[in-house]
Amino acid sequence: MMFAQIVVLEYIHTEDEPRSFTYEIPTELHDRMTIGHLVIVPFGNRRLPGLVIALPETSAIKNLKSIEALLDPQPALSPAQFELAKWISETTLAPLHECIELFLPPGIQGRVDTLYTLVDAELPAKLSATQSELVALLRKRGPLRSAQIDRALPRKNWQEAVRSLTRRNLIEKQSILMPPSVRPKLAKYVRLIADRSASIVDQARSDLSARSEVADRRSRILDYLAHENKPVWISWVYAETGANLADLQALADRELIALGEEEVWRDPLADKSFVSIDPPHLTHDQASVWDKIQLNLSPPSTPYLLHGITGSGKTEIYLRAVAETLAQHKRALVLVPEIALTPQTVQRFAARFAGRVGVIHSGLSDGERYDVWRKTRAGAIDVIIGPRSAVFAPIDRLGLIVIDEEHEGSYKQEHRPFYHAREVALQLARLTNATVILGSATPSLESWSRAQRGEFKLLTLPRRIIGHTQSIQDQQTRYHIEAKSFQPTDVDDARYAEMPPVDIVDLRAEIKSGNPHIFSRRLQNALADVLNRNEQAILFINRRGAATFVLCRDCGHVLKCPRCDSPLTYHEPIDQPQKVTMLICHTCNHREPQPNECPNCHSKRIRYFGTGTQKVEAALKELIPEARTLRWDRDTTSGKDSHEIILQHFIQHEADVLIGTQMIAKGLDLPLVTLVGVISADTTLHLPDFRSSERTFQVLAQVVGRAGRSILGGRAIIQTYAPDNYAIEAAAQHDYESFAKKELEFRQQAAYPPFTRLARLLIRDANADRAKREAEKVATQLDSLLTRSGIARDSIIGPAPCFFAKLRDQYRWHIALRHPDPVSIVRELRLTPAWRIDIDPLSML
Ligand code: ADP
Ligand code: ZN
Ligand code: ZN
Repeated sequence: MMFAQIVVLEYIHTEDEPRSFTYEIPTELHDRMTIGHLVIVPFGNRRLPGLVIALPETSAIKNLKSIEALLDPQPALSPAQFELAKWISETTLAPLHECIELFLPPGIQGRVDTLYTLVDAELPAKLSATQSELVALLRKRGPLRSAQIDRALPRKNWQEAVRSLTRRNLIEKQSILMPPSVRPKLAKYVRLIADRSASIVDQARSDLSARSEVADRRSRILDYLAHENKPVWISWVYAETGANLADLQALADRELIALGEEEVWRDPLADKSFVSIDPPHLTHDQASVWDKIQLNLSPPSTPYLLHGITGSGKTEIYLRAVAETLAQHKRALVLVPEIALTPQTVQRFAARFAGRVGVIHSGLSDGERYDVWRKTRAGAIDVIIGPRSAVFAPIDRLGLIVIDEEHEGSYKQEHRPFYHAREVALQLARLTNATVILGSATPSLESWSRAQRGEFKLLTLPRRIIGHTQSIQDQQTRYHIEAKSFQPTDVDDARYAEMPPVDIVDLRAEIKSGNPHIFSRRLQNALADVLNRNEQAILFINRRGAATFVLCRDCGHVLKCPRCDSPLTYHEPIDQPQKVTMLICHTCNHREPQPNECPNCHSKRIRYFGTGTQKVEAALKELIPEARTLRWDRDTTSGKDSHEIILQHFIQHEADVLIGTQMIAKGLDLPLVTLVGVISADTTLHLPDFRSSERTFQVLAQVVGRAGRSILGGRAIIQTYAPDNYAIEAAAQHDYESFAKKELEFRQQAAYPPFTRLARLLIRDANADRAKREAEKVATQLDSLLTRSGIARDSIIGPAPCFFAKLRDQYRWHIALRHPDPVSIVRELRLTPAWRIDIDPLSML
């Protein structure tokens, strides 16, 4: 007898229910069953898919049910992937089945079907009418799935017929996974019908101007399409005119416009002058980096950390490494933070390795995802590009993992399993002998200190590349300007550029000298200049954390907790009867009423702080009415394609100023942008999270790096109440290393990662008191656990309400534990499933 331990998949269950069960393996499957196989098992009165996780020799339980069938002859998880799933479960304390599900394409349950095959045998003469029909069908079309038979024999009870035929061994039944049904994705386009004479359109327009809102919208559509004079993507028409589908259909019915479909994926990159399909010769800097990279050694080489400012040629190194990997007949995995925000990177890979690239992104349907998964497993895709979940793709012969922008927070999953794709990738590389290249202009301090310790091999690209002499000439012609001379790159015809100069404007001084406007005078002048020259600007608002901390506009003083020095945050009086505005410390739960004057300079201009994109847009319109503005933030990007729409608009110079939050800081190459203005640099500095300086530095360094990416040059202006802050100063000087040095000193003093590790335990409850009591109870347990193991009690931080104290009607409390091996301690606590356990949390908010 042989047994298999099986995790039942996609079954609605409560969190603490067991999910793995032992089954008997039927004789015919004995020699075909391995760990990682997908099977069908009886479960209650249902048949469910499951995954084999162990093959025990014996079982203590008698009368086990038997596995019904093998769903797929190829295992869904390779041995290395299975090891990786176990590792994720052990290091994140998430249940194994959840970690296994990370590797599986979604919707397996819905894909289980049965295949019917006619056995080539004498058929008895006596068959019922339906049986004969079924036999004729299978004889004519070969093996069919139930869904296909359903369609061929509508309204027939063929199931009944099939049962007696299988009993008599005339038809064979087999459980299978249905192939994906993937249609090419079509995008709808709208155009004005060209052969309509202008008078007809005018007539329609005057008919329409019956002064209703609907008529307004519809005539806006006609105006807009006439102005565009080409087919326009439907989402774009919606965005521009506020129209809906009914409006478009009404106009189409009157034959004024036509709706059509085109296959997407359109090229979001209008300016392709930098992209050449043929690899360029490496610059001297790149060549010396490339010389140090050795791919696919066994045992694997130390992971590489490629540190290079924005535009220094990192991507070119990744491309080179991928090409080399493919030449060794291995495959490559390229992780990027968010596909929608990094279309240009994806384009470059797709162009260089045409036909061999598969992209995984959140816009894919389940069917499309399953298709990519199957193609990858079958070895039909050699380069996989995707966000964090792409690390789970079933890639055989993996030779290289690239993690672009390795510092990005989106690599961490913020729900269970709380894994970090960088750590998963490093472990995957250990298991498969693959090479890892991590790249960033602003490496995470964790990675940086690993490089200092020799766990990563540091590679540096210190200078920005402006491009080939050829592309420089192209740009000169396009922008009608005389380029200044760029520094030659020694070995080739590419040229280096200077990083853009960055000015820091002290907002306290600006207020003192009588300008309370959200734009300093320097920024006002710079904006006017840019618009005069018909170039583009980006205005960046560091909105995360704004409107929460309390700052004196005269002296820049920020209110801090008297007990633990964390910034105090402002809270509307929600959960207490006195209705006093309170300031709360999210580290130790200290509370105090909001003061009326600054404790430092007694100014009355002390208030909570915050400016949104709308306010900045309005202020800009007031200052320069003819400026064409575009907002890019969570509010304007709720639609599925809205990132692409906004980006397209801006790249095509249909707007002069892009106003946005964090997302505009991502890897965009925008040649016309010659000014980046940071409206408020400080907001993230005052978040109650030990990484707030690091985040501030990263986002500022990235966003000022958007300026001056072309021969037009550029500059950046950072407005701040904290001009002397080291994060802000270092970002303005493009000086990562001095920032890292200072920040690491602080982390060491305060005993924070990377000098220790953290576990964050978070409880949510609809009842505020219960949340607090539960948090206090667990903190006490933790305390006695630590005392017993002789660990200092100050390794517990909290309990305290989270910075986001109430989310979706749930009160949130947390406790953090500092410990070199937090898993070993937290495991002992045996927390209920209501607790969220985040080992090495990225956010403390
Ligand atoms: P990063 O990834 O560090 O931001 P990129 O690889 O995107 O840098 O390079 C910046 C710009 O310089 C891109 O437009 C790229 O096409 C160009 N470039 C990079 N390497 C070379 C090279 N060796 N020769 C010519 N142009 C290059
Ligand atoms: Zn405190
Ligand atoms: Zn003050």
